Amino acid sequence: MTDQSIITLNDGKTIPQVGLGVWQTPNDEAAPAVKAALDVGYRHVDTAAVYENEEGVGEGIRGSGLDRRDIFLTTKLWNNDQGYDQTLKAFDASLKRLGTDYVDLYLIHWPSAHRGLFVDTWKAFVKLREEGRAKSIGVSNFYPEHIERIVGETGVVPVLNQIELHPDFQQREARAFHEKYKIATQSWSPLGQGKLLNHPEIAKIAGRIGRTPAQVIIRWHIDNGLIVIPKSVTPARIAENFNVFDFELADDDLSVLNGLDDAGARIGPDPKTAA
Ligand code: NAD
Repeated sequence: MTDQSIITLNDGKTIPQVGLGVWQTPNDEAAPAVKAALDVGYRHVDTAAVYENEEGVGEGIRGSGLDRRDIFLTTKLWNNDQGYDQTLKAFDASLKRLGTDYVDLYLIHWPSAHRGLFVDTWKAFVKLREEGRAKSIGVSNFYPEHIERIVGETGVVPVLNQIELHPDFQQREARAFHEKYKIATQSWSPLGQGKLLNHPEIAKIAGRIGRTPAQVIIRWHIDNGLIVIPKSVTPARIAENFNVFDFELADDDLSVLNGLDDAGARIGPDPKTAA
């Protein structure tokens, strides 16, 4: 098995820096993809209630034959389940679908601020952590103002914020804010949903160092201290995306990639206005 990097979170728990993302993957594809990932050494899987594949993810984990405790499993609360009681119910339903009695990380998927419920939701998350059923708790798509609000109301700092982040959308302001609070940054759509794989600068670096564009991008996330969850259902690509622990990017190449930042390159919705 490839050695992998591990990040220590602000609650003392650890998370493997590279995980498998399974968005837009139906149950019957999620199970074999998760098993393929675990077979080549991944120990971290990122799903969500709204992906409607928690059953498949659970099946893939059980099919791997690994001890559940050796796998870092994340799921997320969907927006229309926000609110204290509703969150507790939705969490139970996620555990049932996953076929496990705890998750390693539970995330509020979006602040969905217009509902006015993310603080109550966070209070339920704190209870789930106290019960030990969510080992760590965090957020996704939160702006600093949303994080300040939940920390101000509860004193509990999320372990990480999962946000859209790729070489042409680097989220420097958010990352600086997270560092101040010792919140880890996790990159969603780390490959720009595949669109960055043909980027000429990235392809040039990949060709010169004998790696693939996907490996160069994933390594860029790792070398920036980010937690990264590339998605694929193709076993060869799943393996390729994990084969990134035997090299580092040279400073010059890192500088080129750091220079690709373009604040306008967001692919997904802006969390300020998203549902
Ligand atoms: P991604 O950036 O991981 O890109 C995935 C695309 O790249 C897929 O189409 C895949 O076929 C292609 N690809 C992957 N590896 C490849 C390789 N080695 N060679 C060629 N093509 C390759 O996009 P994503 O799925 O949007 O993001 C990754 C994960 O982030 C998701 O699966 C999900 O778990 C998470 N996510 C979270 C949120 C959120 O709101 N929290 C939003 C989007 C995604």
